[in-house]
Amino acid sequence: MYAFEYQRPDTIEAATLAAQGAEARFLAGGQSLVQAMKLRLSSAERLVDLAGVTALRGISASATEVTIGAMVRHAEVAASATVRQAIPGLAELAAGIGDAMVRNLGTLGGSLATADPAACYPAALVALGARVKTTQREIAADDFFTGLYETVLRAGELIVSVTFPIPLKAAYAKYKQPASRFAMVGVMVSQTAAGVRVAVTGARSAVFRVPELEQALSADFSAAAASSVTLPADDLNADIHCSAQYRAAMIVVMTARAVTAAQAR
Ligand SMILES: Cc1cc2nc3c(=O)[nH]c(=O)nc-3n(C[C@H](O)[C@H](O)[C@H](O)COP(=O)(O)OP(=O)(O)OC[C@H]3O[C@@H](n4cnc5c(N)ncnc54)[C@H](O)[C@@H]3O)c2cc1C
Repeated sequence: MYAFEYQRPDTIEAATLAAQGAEARFLAGGQSLVQAMKLRLSSAERLVDLAGVTALRGISASATEVTIGAMVRHAEVAASATVRQAIPGLAELAAGIGDAMVRNLGTLGGSLATADPAACYPAALVALGARVKTTQREIAADDFFTGLYETVLRAGELIVSVTFPIPLKAAYAKYKQPASRFAMVGVMVSQTAAGVRVAVTGARSAVFRVPELEQALSADFSAAAASSVTLPADDLNADIHCSAQYRAAMIVVMTARAVTAAQAR
């Protein structure tokens, strides 16, 4: 690990100020950043630790939306009575991330800023039509992820919170890499009055929606309707874990499982 300066502000304004000037990085739970810095794959002249910024914590809900602070840890989302009641599929997604240490240190904001192609939260954001609030603007989930480990975030732009509209029904199903539990294919399905959204993670360089499945499920929200869809393997990832053709099949299988889980509520 290269040497760096460390700052621990306690307000959003101070954190934003601390991130200016030097080549600075925000530090959330360190689950991606510290590993990368230890391997010298990543470096920073200054780390701005967000642990003391209480305004980035907390979960709240209205009749129509749930808002989760950027520094809320996965274990807190999984255990939150508010999330479990409003969007149980989101709490279950968080409960299935990594292992206990990752869930107790990893954060919503850190996960989104990293934009790992196999991360779970991107599927939830896109399927639920969430909005990301930063220190500079509000960004629709559909516009947030731009590629492999890439987002529209600018240098020094801090994620403050994410607001999730409450769906009629939603659930996440993941075909996971057994060691890390990252998604080889993860599918979030969300049913609202406007129709059905299906978002897939783990199968391309970034999260994407599947119009064929959305049309089938908007007409008939059933596992059978999902299973009747055949998807092309074009543009899907192929690696040591599985082929593109297998991923195409798993997208359909995970979608059907997510629909079954959503209907059970
Ligand atoms: C073994 C292992 C297994 C995992 N399994 C899964 C899994 O199954 N599913 C899954 O979804 N994820 C998984 N993860 C990722 C995990 O969920 C973490 O959320 C992710 O690694 C980011 O970590 P962090 O929140 O501690 O952020 P950090 O590592 O502290 O930061 C990551 C990046 O985000 C930036 N950042 C942090 N907070 C903000 C903010 N508020 N605004 C702007 N930028 C910010 C940092 O500058 C840095 O660039 C796994 C990780 C590990 C190590």
